[in-house]
Amino acid sequence: MISRILDEKKIKRLARLIDRAGRIVITTHLSPDGDAMGSSLALARVLGNIGKDVAVIVPDQPLEQLMFLPGAKDVIVGSRYADFAAALFRKANLIICLDFNELKRIDRLAPFVDASKAAKVMIDHHLDPSDFADPVISHPEMSSTCMLLFRVLCRLELFNFIDKEAASCLLAGMMTDTGNFSYNANDPDAYIIEAELVRKGVDKVELYNRLLNRVTENCLRLTSYALLNRMEVFADAHAALICLTRDELNNFHYVKGDTEGLVNRPLAIPGIIYSAFLREEDGYVKVSMRSVGDFPVNKLCKDHFGGGGHLNAAGGEFPGTLDECADLFRSLLDENKKLYIDK
Ligand code: 5GP
Ligand code: MN
Repeated sequence: MISRILDEKKIKRLARLIDRAGRIVITTHLSPDGDAMGSSLALARVLGNIGKDVAVIVPDQPLEQLMFLPGAKDVIVGSRYADFAAALFRKANLIICLDFNELKRIDRLAPFVDASKAAKVMIDHHLDPSDFADPVISHPEMSSTCMLLFRVLCRLELFNFIDKEAASCLLAGMMTDTGNFSYNANDPDAYIIEAELVRKGVDKVELYNRLLNRVTENCLRLTSYALLNRMEVFADAHAALICLTRDELNNFHYVKGDTEGLVNRPLAIPGIIYSAFLREEDGYVKVSMRSVGDFPVNKLCKDHFGGGGHLNAAGGEFPGTLDECADLFRSLLDENKKLYIDK
């Protein structure tokens, strides 16, 4: 048995909203990852299985490696079909927001959700949920929205409507948000849930290979280049930094997703507690940080790099040049050590 953690009142309200809703829209964050896509597709599938009219709308195109997930090809991409997306949000009576905590995270879709008269629900595991939805089912202690969603579905008495396809999507999100259960993976319930999903017929080996064990040649070479030539290790400060310019990315024919996971690599060095990866974009720098233990990269990103996130995985957008951003990171090393490491 998994532990009971969900608020009964919120579940009842959600059950009532789903029951009454004719048209449901599910939406998730910009650059949808495995958990965002997995949770959205799983919920859409289960609600479809009980006869609901459901659409999934994402702000922009998901990573190619996620497009094999059941239902992924039916997702409406807001950047391509803005008018269609706007109409669906307008007509919806229920909008379910998955894997994000504030409207800013859905980018161009935010005004549509904001303007819609539909009831709004949030199911998410990021810290500091905003209050645009009711109920807000927010559990930052959960390693993935997919794991939280599994619990929600059970409490809604929809376990039997989780078919193999929905189960694959749920496990996809649980695996991608934990690196195949290698971080944020000490919750025993995760393994009970995983077992239930595998019992539904999911091919976990296949999922692992497709989601976490595939790289293109360009991606492998870019990763190797970045680690060999662009990784700075600040052993005394227990930190590492990797920066890539547009030109460097172009040299390796970079496509979205190629630098996924790169930021984690320096954490394998004994003594390194936090790591940053800075990617030059047009007019800003995309910041990505990871840490181990109680070093709060979300606080670092929030205070200095225009973002936020989880304790051990955070990011932001820095409005300046790559050099400025890197200099800022380096200038904070001593302070971070005092504040969070030597404390
Ligand atoms: P990633 O490094 O994979 O892009 O992001 C890791 C986590 O950091 C995300 O799950 C999200 O919680 C947070 N994050 C990434 N980028 C941003 C951002 O620009 N703003 C905020 N608030 N959070 C971000
Ligand atoms: Mn997530």
